[in-house]
Amino acid sequence: MIITRPRDWARIEVRLDALGARRVFVMGCGQCATVAGTGGEAEVLEAKAVLERSGREVTGWSVGEVACHAGGQRLETREHASELAAADAVLVLACGAGVQTMADAVEDTPVLPGLESVFLGNVVRHGVFEERCQMCGDCVLDRTAGICPVTTCPKGLLNGPCGGMWNGMCEVLEDRECTHVRIRRRLAQQGRTGESVPLPPKDYSKKLKPGKVDLRAASHGKGGTS
Ligand code: SF4
Ligand code: SF4
Repeated sequence: MIITRPRDWARIEVRLDALGARRVFVMGCGQCATVAGTGGEAEVLEAKAVLERSGREVTGWSVGEVACHAGGQRLETREHASELAAADAVLVLACGAGVQTMADAVEDTPVLPGLESVFLGNVVRHGVFEERCQMCGDCVLDRTAGICPVTTCPKGLLNGPCGGMWNGMCEVLEDRECTHVRIRRRLAQQGRTGESVPLPPKDYSKKLKPGKVDLRAASHGKGGTS
C-alpha cells in the first residue's frame, strides 16, 4: 500500500490563501490513506473542522472507495457535483496518485494535496509500515533470499556490506541488522552460500517512467507495458 503522512498544514493554508479559496471540498481515500490513518473519514472530518476554524466554508466532503481509481472517482464527483461546483478548491487527503485522479475529474477547479506520499509499504502490523520495494523493474529477490538490498539498505547498496557495518549491525540505522548480513545468513539457511557473489549492476532503464500497464494490450507476454 502507499504510505502517506500529513502535509504541513501551514503549506495548505498558504496555497489556499494564494488561490483565494474560501470554499473548499475535502476528499479522502477509503483504501491506503484510511489504513495509514491519514485520509479516512476521521481525518477528513478533522481537516473540515480545521478549515472551518480558519474561517473557510467546507462545501462538502467525501471518502470514496479508492481515490486513485478513475472510474470510482468520477462516480464520486457526480454524487457530489453541486458541492464541488460550489468549491473554490478541492483538498485531497490521498497519495499523489489519488490527488491526480481527482484533478483529472474536476479539471476546472484547483486541487491541492493534503498529504505527502512517502513510500510503497508493507503492513508489518496495525499502524506499522515498512518500505520493502522501490519498484525498480529489475527484481533481484531471487538472488538475495527475498530481501531487497536496494530498498532496505539505507545506502541503497546492491552489494555489501559497506565498510561501516559493525558486528553485523548497520552503521546508518544502528538498531538494525545490516541488510547484507541478513541476506547472507538467509542464503546460508537455504544452503545457498555459493550464491553470495556480487550482483551485476541493475538495469534501471527497466524502471518504467511514467509507468503504464494495459492488460487489454495484445502483448501480454511483455506485460502490456509501455
Ligand atoms: S529489487 Fe527492485 S523490484 Fe525487487 S524488491 Fe527491490 S526494488 Fe522491488
Ligand atoms: S551497514 Fe549494511 S545495511 Fe547499513 S548501510 Fe552499510 S551495507 Fe547498508
